[in-house]
Parts: sequence; C-alpha cells; structure tokens
Amino acid sequence: EITLHELEKQYGETTAVEDVSVEIEDGELLCLLGPSGSGKSTTLRMIAGLETPTGGEISIDGDDVTDDPAYERTTSTVFQDWALFPHKTVRENVEFGLKMRGVPADEREQRAESMLERVQMTGYGEDDPTNLSGGQKQRVALARSLAVNPDVLLLDEPLSNLDKRLREDMQIELREIHEDLDETFVHVTHDQDEAFTLADRIGIMDQGELVQIGDPDEVYENPTNQFIESFLGDTN
Ligand code: ATP
Ligand code: MG
Repeated sequence: EITLHELEKQYGETTAVEDVSVEIEDGELLCLLGPSGSGKSTTLRMIAGLETPTGGEISIDGDDVTDDPAYERTTSTVFQDWALFPHKTVRENVEFGLKMRGVPADEREQRAESMLERVQMTGYGEDDPTNLSGGQKQRVALARSLAVNPDVLLLDEPLSNLDKRLREDMQIELREIHEDLDETFVHVTHDQDEAFTLADRIGIMDQGELVQIGDPDEVYENPTNQFIESFLGDTN
C-alpha cells in the first residue's frame, strides 16, 4: 500500500502539487485524471522518486520513502514514449532490469519468456525492437517494466501516442494484464474514456489538488465540483 500524505511540490513560484493525500490499495488500478498542468505527472514522479516533494510524505508498505532515490524504491515507471533500447533484442530489453538486479541468466530468460507470453509477444524474443509496430513496442516495454516484479507500476500517459483504435485495444489489454497480475497500477491520463475503461478508482486532479476520488460510477454520478462536471461533459 502506498500512502501520500499532504504531498506538495513547488517549482519556484509555481505550485505543481498541493496537499495531495490518498491511500493507494494493494492491487488496485488508480487513474489520475485531469487536464494539462493539473499536477498528474509531478505526483507520479514523486511516487517514483524522480522528484523530491517540497512538503508531505510518501510511504510504501509502511516505510517512509519520501527522501529515498528512485533506485531504492520498488516502483517501475512506464512513460509516454515507451523507449526501448534499440541495440538490444526484445528479450534483452525485457531482461534489462533483472540483469541490473543481478538475477542469474537462466532465471532471467525464464522470467522474460513468461512476461512476453503475458503481453502476447511469444516468439519475438530474438527480434530487433526497431522492426516492431507501435503496439508491439508498447507490449515489450510493458513486459520490461513488469519483469522486475514492482510493488507498483506507474504509467504516465502510456497510450497517448497511439492512434485511436490501437489505443482502445491497448486499454483493454492493460486492463486484462492488470487483472491477471494483481499488482498495483497508478495510471495517469487526461483522457476520461481511458480512465473510465481502466480504473478501479479515479482521482481527479485540478490545479495541483486531488479534488475528488472514488470509483468510476461515484465520480460519474456525483461530480463534486464545477470543474469535474464540465470536464466530464467534455467530449474530448
Ligand atoms: P500534462 O497533462 O500536460 O502532462 P500534468 O497534469 O502532468 O500535465 P505536471 O507536468 O505535473 O502536469 O505540471 C504541473 C505544473 O507544474 C504545471 O504548471 C507545470 O508547468 C509545472 N511544472 C512541472 N514540472 C516542472 C518543472 N520541472 N519546472 C517547473 N515547473 C514545472
Ligand atoms: Mg503529464
């Protein structure tokens, strides 16, 4: 379980995140939804340890990790561009995090194989990732992030560079992978359809604050402020 307590991030005069408190339950898929500049990425980056909060605390399974660097955390992050290492095979990409952690070769190979199977990329292990389609690259990047068995997978707009059809396919796949794995996902998006498709709970961000959190029905039925109402009314 991840607890954010009164989390805050200031950049000079700009308050990117203000007073965000939430308990993220084990195994849930939480979507942070909000418009551009609302503080979604900053919140995610603080959970990942890529930014240090200017106020508040973060704990993972009861340990205060607020000041711990990213490499000491059991989080794994997937970004929009899903960059794969071009000079490595698909399998080497998936094994990368395991190699860094000193996992022996045979165990790495097994784990990579099972991750590739999970994302429906069995048989592509020896391929050059530059020859894959956009959706295939994303599956491999997802396998790479999941291979290290993170306590939480952090996803920052991972699907926003895809065309609409592929994006919808990947949303369904992500949902299935999440149900399969029973791991905690925190998924950032500004796309309400994506949030409603994927989420167990949706947290709405507005101007750095978490202004509402609840399951999708709750958020849809009872928008608690004007912003949420107008945002949900938007047809993107
Ligand atoms: P988007 O949907 O466009 O990705 P976001 O919700 O992820 O937006 P953030 O990237 O978290 O928003 O940014 C929140 C606010 O903090 C914005 O006003 C942004 O300009 C500011 N900000 C973010 N990162 C920095 C930085 N490194 N230096 C200065 N200001 C920043
Ligand atoms: Mg962002």
